[in-house]
Amino acid sequence: MTEKRLAPLYVVPTPLGNLGDLSARQRDILTCVDWIAAEDTRHCALLFQHLKIPGNKCFAAHAHNEQAIAERIVVRLSAGESGALISDAGTPAISDPGARIVARVRAAGGVVIPLPGPCAAVTAISASGLPDAHWLFYGFLPPKSGQRRTALVALQAFPHALVFYEAPHRVTASVADMAVILGEQRTLVLARELTKRFEQIHALPLGEARAWLEADAQRQKGEFVLIVSGARVARETAEADRILRLLLEEMPTKQAARLAAAITDIPRNTLYERALALQSRKQQTPS
Ligand code: SAM
Repeated sequence: MTEKRLAPLYVVPTPLGNLGDLSARQRDILTCVDWIAAEDTRHCALLFQHLKIPGNKCFAAHAHNEQAIAERIVVRLSAGESGALISDAGTPAISDPGARIVARVRAAGGVVIPLPGPCAAVTAISASGLPDAHWLFYGFLPPKSGQRRTALVALQAFPHALVFYEAPHRVTASVADMAVILGEQRTLVLARELTKRFEQIHALPLGEARAWLEADAQRQKGEFVLIVSGARVARETAEADRILRLLLEEMPTKQAARLAAAITDIPRNTLYERALALQSRKQQTPS
């Protein structure tokens, strides 16, 4: 007797905010599968309306019922029904439910077919301008400051960029803790409301981030990815600043940037921008 194969489970990323980001393949799969397991069925209503998918094709698969729903999914796949797994936005199982369902389907001998697509961390990294070739995706830090600081201490020496997700009501407290534990010199890239109307991507020293957020309530609204440069980059930047400050006392900006580039191996243009920033900060500081 031949063993009955399970129908495939598709893992389908959905737009972070802009429905135009839905790919043709995502659209086809969501339209063609027999059912859709969604993190929040109400949240997906807009997407389903857009795709003209009837609401009754969908059932809830969230963090609190994931284990039980995984069993139900295996039964339906065994019956030959294909299905798709989606979360509220972005890629399922990335700081979202989905991993348990995928593991259960694979354990049952099923085929899981992932589609590429929107992910806030990757979207933010692509526009961060941080030159580091490596980065660590951390996701959400603990909500309480004490535990958050402990988690950050464990990341202090990590030499590459760190990528965090954060909720709007915690973003100010989080960047303040990051500045204390990781150091004020590091570069922070705030990527807010990606793909949406009020999208904003802003880079600044971590030590200035709290004041920048507090200067305008609008800056604290929406969804955030926070990217912090790694310990190695922070050390290099601090060293480059030290060299630039010394050279700027003795020579014009362009010459200082050229010499500092020869000493540090950091691109001359980067150091020229840095030198201008140091000079303007010096002018703003009351003597
Ligand atoms: N699975 C999603 C993904 O692939 O990115 C992440 C889901 S997680 C529950 C939600 C968090 O992702 C938000 O709190 C925020 O940190 C980040 N995020 C989601 N959409 C975003 C957006 N449009 N702009 C910035 N960050 C976003």
